[in-house]
Amino acid sequence: MNVDILESNPEEVAMPPSNNHKWDEVLKDLRITYGEDTYKSWISKLELIDVTAGCANFVVPTHFIKDWLRTHFEKKIIRAWKDKNQAIKKIRITANQTGTDKKSSGPNRKTASSTTQSKTRKHSFANKLDSRFKFENFVVGPPNEFAYSAAQAVSKSKTAQSGSNPLFLYGGVGLGKTHLMHATAWEIQKINPDRKVACISAEKFMYQFVTALRNNDIMNFKERYRSVDVLMVDDVQFMCGKNSTQEEFFHTLNSLIDNNRQIIISADRSPSALENMEDRIKSRLGWGLVADIHNTTYELRLGILESKVEISNVTITKDVLEFLARKIVSNVRELEGALNKVIAHTNITGQSINLDSTREILRDLLRSNEKIITIEDIQRKVAERYSIKFSDMSSNKRLRTVARPRQMAMYLSKILTNKSLAEIGRKFGGKDHTTVIHAVKTIENLIDTNKEFSEDIKLLIKVVEC
Ligand code: ADP
Ligand code: MG
Repeated sequence: MNVDILESNPEEVAMPPSNNHKWDEVLKDLRITYGEDTYKSWISKLELIDVTAGCANFVVPTHFIKDWLRTHFEKKIIRAWKDKNQAIKKIRITANQTGTDKKSSGPNRKTASSTTQSKTRKHSFANKLDSRFKFENFVVGPPNEFAYSAAQAVSKSKTAQSGSNPLFLYGGVGLGKTHLMHATAWEIQKINPDRKVACISAEKFMYQFVTALRNNDIMNFKERYRSVDVLMVDDVQFMCGKNSTQEEFFHTLNSLIDNNRQIIISADRSPSALENMEDRIKSRLGWGLVADIHNTTYELRLGILESKVEISNVTITKDVLEFLARKIVSNVRELEGALNKVIAHTNITGQSINLDSTREILRDLLRSNEKIITIEDIQRKVAERYSIKFSDMSSNKRLRTVARPRQMAMYLSKILTNKSLAEIGRKFGGKDHTTVIHAVKTIENLIDTNKEFSEDIKLLIKVVEC
């Protein structure tokens, strides 16, 4: 895990016009939160042109990047920026399709984004494999074990197996698709270095195809792709809607599969859900083995955190890890980003971190991961836990086995929602707010005096928040 992010290559982070309204700070945060890959591929492409009337204007090299950033990052950028600078209200991203004659380019305006762009132009045929993305660094749990086993099986097999060709991996962003793909590629190369493996993003595939068309170099392009033993295409949802590329992609797939070469595809959705993708391609993609990666569970998140801490040489207490696993539910990438921040903080200050400082460091991230908890959620989960009826939450029964869980639910409603005492009373069968106050006090007392009870409450909070 790379924890040097804070200090690494300042010229790649910074780009400022003299007054960049704290954009460079926002960039640093985004880089830590979303990781190097996302930063390099997307966020670093943003070139800030100016800020007028609260609207920040950016230019990016292509329409494709513009669309992607708009869909995936516009809100996140605004949120992160507003925290640093209230004056920023919105952002506008426009594409500079040629990628060269930027409006603002002048002698001093050679920016990080244009530098990075020119580096990517100098494309090699396939993407470089990430050395962190190996099977041994992948934590397996129920949400991903099917995809994991499928990837393992493909990597161990000496030739393509028709039952899993193509292997189609899909799941939400940041859940480990690219990691599994690269792990498969590493493993194949380890077992048989002679097998030619190419792992490429759909974006790069499209880019190479378009370039080949422009340069009348299609034969070369075809040959290159058809000479591999294993072809991996990552994030194929990005290929939607580009007709000539789709056509070429389809032929490449067919030709490779017919020649018994292995294909592995990843996408953020299932083959049939790929909009704007031609039907024949969708069905071709779904022919082999389709394996989905589900959202993480609390246990998997905790396991991932523990394994990453283990290799980081930093001590982080279990309660902080549990807190992160409970709170950062969106995806593994954000979870890693959160952990990296905590580790960076520990490294810089030399102090171990506690729950309060974690909350402070991760304020923004925690806010965006916040799950709205309703009183009904609490009532349902507490009733389940103590095997009483949901309707008992609104009853007036005084029997301890019913009354105590009801008081616990009132207490949890008070601390986990922002509802008023009166509203809480109403949801519990129209009780008075003094009844709620009484319940809250009773439970607080019990927490202070009874260790077992206090553990029960902690557990319930976990159950309700997950
Ligand atoms: P995707 O391609 O699905 O968007 P990635 O493969 O890039 O997601 O994963 C995002 C980050 O989370 C990577 O740094 C990856 O190593 C990490 N990650 C995802 N799943 C796991 C897992 N099960 N165990 C360890 N790390 C994981
Ligand atoms: Mg990916």
